[in-house]
Amino acid sequence: MTQILDGLKQQLGIPQTIILQLVDTNTRAFSVQPDTHGAFLVKIDAHFLLHLDDEETKAAMAHELGHVWIYTHHPFLHTEALANEIAVRVVSRQALQKLYSKVWQFETSIAD
Ligand SMILES: [Zn+2]
Repeated sequence: MTQILDGLKQQLGIPQTIILQLVDTNTRAFSVQPDTHGAFLVKIDAHFLLHLDDEETKAAMAHELGHVWIYTHHPFLHTEALANEIAVRVVSRQALQKLYSKVWQFETSIAD
C-alpha cells in the first residue's frame, strides 16, 4: 500500500508526508485530515479495506490524495466532486465507481 501511495503522490505532485493508519472503525470507510506537523493522516477502516481489490484500493488512495491536493491548493473549494476530479488524473472513473458502490454498501451496513 505504501508503494501505491508513493506512486500516486509522485504522479499528482504531492510532496507532503502522508501517514496511513488502519483503524477499527471509520464510519466513512476512509478519510483524511491534516495533522499538526504539516503532514496528512489517512484513516482507513481495516474491515472495509478487506473488501477492496488492488484497483479499488488505489482509487481510494487517489481520492484521499485529491483531498490533500485541495487542502494545499484550494482549501476553500473543498468538495467530494473536486477530490474525484483530481483522482481521475491517476485512476479510471470506473475504478472510482466500483469503489463508491462498496462505500455505499459499507455505510448502509453501519447504518443498520
Ligand atoms: Zn472524500
